[in-house]
Amino acid sequence: MTINITQKFLIKNDCYKAGRKITPKGIMVHSTGANNPKLSRYIQPDDGVLGVNTNKNDWNQIGLDRCVHAFIGKDKNGNAKIYQTLPWNYRGWHGGGKSNDTHIGFEICEDGLTDPVYFAVVYKLAVELCVYLCKTFNLSINEIIGHYEGFQRGIASNHSDPKHWFSRHGKSMDTLRSDVKKEMEVVPVNFTDKVTVQNTAFWQAQVLVEEYQKRGFKCYINPVRSHETQEDGFACPFVVETNFQHANLVKMELETKGYSAVWETI
Ligand SMILES: [Zn+2]
Repeated sequence: MTINITQKFLIKNDCYKAGRKITPKGIMVHSTGANNPKLSRYIQPDDGVLGVNTNKNDWNQIGLDRCVHAFIGKDKNGNAKIYQTLPWNYRGWHGGGKSNDTHIGFEICEDGLTDPVYFAVVYKLAVELCVYLCKTFNLSINEIIGHYEGFQRGIASNHSDPKHWFSRHGKSMDTLRSDVKKEMEVVPVNFTDKVTVQNTAFWQAQVLVEEYQKRGFKCYINPVRSHETQEDGFACPFVVETNFQHANLVKMELETKGYSAVWETI
């Protein structure tokens, strides 16, 4: 399984600024309750992939009482993606009640609820994100709950998401949990996080390999395609293998160096 997570923290959101930490014990799945599948509705500024939110009602601003750890929705080209918007160990404002102290929360951006293709794609991404988080934080699959289940347990506010949407497509939190379980059985237990810079010139990748090898990382240039030669100017992916704890830092460091399209994968 490969999972691509783009990090774009909502650093202006009061929740991010509060910076309270949690030890994640579970995952709460939400859906947005609004017909707008675009990630740019919630996440800004535009990174070239998200697109611009001209309504300026995104969540990267002060004065909002809500924030989640990730969103699943469409980029500006209509491709479904996962964007992480809070560090996983920050306390989110997503469930109301005590669930915020224990559960990582993510939103799936709703469309008009009737498109089976969009639903299938975002449901699959939700499964993958849950697998990733369960493995990373050693979470029990039983602690993957919908917002409405959080309410039933008395740890979240009274919302029906994502049941009202899942049920229209023959899915439920039970199917999600069982799909996560199935996927976890096929993913190797000791997976490695990889941070990939998608497009580096070959000489840049060589410089990065030298730098990160000196620092003790296993890293390499992904083999260029056979018809290309390893000359200056050819774009090729540079890969650092690391563990989860370091992956975020390595990714942010590479972005600070000016590299874009930095992906974290397992
Ligand atoms: Zn919710």
